[in-house]
Amino acid sequence: MVDAKGLYCRPGGFHIDPYAGAKRAVITHGHSDHARPGHERVLATAETLAVMKTRLGSVGTRGTQAVKYGEKLQIGEVTVTLVPAGHVLGSAQVLIEWKGSRVVVSGDYKRSADPTCPPFELLPCHLFITEATFALPVFQHGNAREEVGKLLKSRAQFPERAHVVGVYNLGKCQRLIAVLREAGYERSIYLHGALQECCSLYETFGVRLGPLKPATGTAREEMKGEIVLAPPTAIADRWSRRLPDPVTAFASGWMRIRARARQQAIELPLVISDHADWNELTATIAETDAEEVWVTHGREDALLHHIQSTGRKGRALALIGREDEDQ
Ligand SMILES: [Zn+2]
Ligand SMILES: [Zn+2]
Repeated sequence: MVDAKGLYCRPGGFHIDPYAGAKRAVITHGHSDHARPGHERVLATAETLAVMKTRLGSVGTRGTQAVKYGEKLQIGEVTVTLVPAGHVLGSAQVLIEWKGSRVVVSGDYKRSADPTCPPFELLPCHLFITEATFALPVFQHGNAREEVGKLLKSRAQFPERAHVVGVYNLGKCQRLIAVLREAGYERSIYLHGALQECCSLYETFGVRLGPLKPATGTAREEMKGEIVLAPPTAIADRWSRRLPDPVTAFASGWMRIRARARQQAIELPLVISDHADWNELTATIAETDAEEVWVTHGREDALLHHIQSTGRKGRALALIGREDEDQ
């Protein structure tokens, strides 16, 4: 059910990703629209708890509990299991089992490969509560390796220019670096200061990112022909003027919309997203074989229509405050 603090599991007595301070919160992942401050007890993967500590300072006024993927916990009358969601480091779906029925809360998820986190695991269930960030047929994300190939090709074409890529701080940044490494790119990658902390955190959990250097303080000449990562807000701003004739790129699911790329003056749009696109959302719903599907944040109308057309019950959850930190 949904109450003033968001999604609530009554027989378990806990909220999932609540937006106001809750007594007991299960957190799917560290993005700010899911991991908010002020809860009393917080249960999440160790990775998510570490992200929350880094970003919020302290987590859980009355304590935290780190849970491993696949570990079954009894909470109140229900059994809770966290299962990989393939979205970012530590991201989890929440499986709730109660009196023979299975509910899965997806959190944010994707089905495509990501070298920085374990892949999404499909869970058959009766009720599937799904995200819907890119829930329109127009959203079809690119293959991350091919998109990174475009970046490397542009770099070869313009060896005198820096390539500055807008990336979200948690997830996209590290995934882009890891995919560059998979493609054999071994040079130092330059980072805006705001990205450093999350990269270090990923490395603490064993994700290898290769040589990284701070962009600030590096001579302009040295960054000719190099790849520089920065938060999306920094690429159009004074910050990027220090770079030699930068090619501006942006790695986001939104880059599928050309008008949006043009409006933001993005020369090189890279359609890489950490969310499921339309095909992944509809395929996942079918594969869970859920009789009922609830849709959380995003553009739910088209998805609800699709759900009903496949003979399932659909419902839109009016959850507030789900903003796009992380597309
Ligand atoms: Zn997210
Ligand atoms: Zn989200």
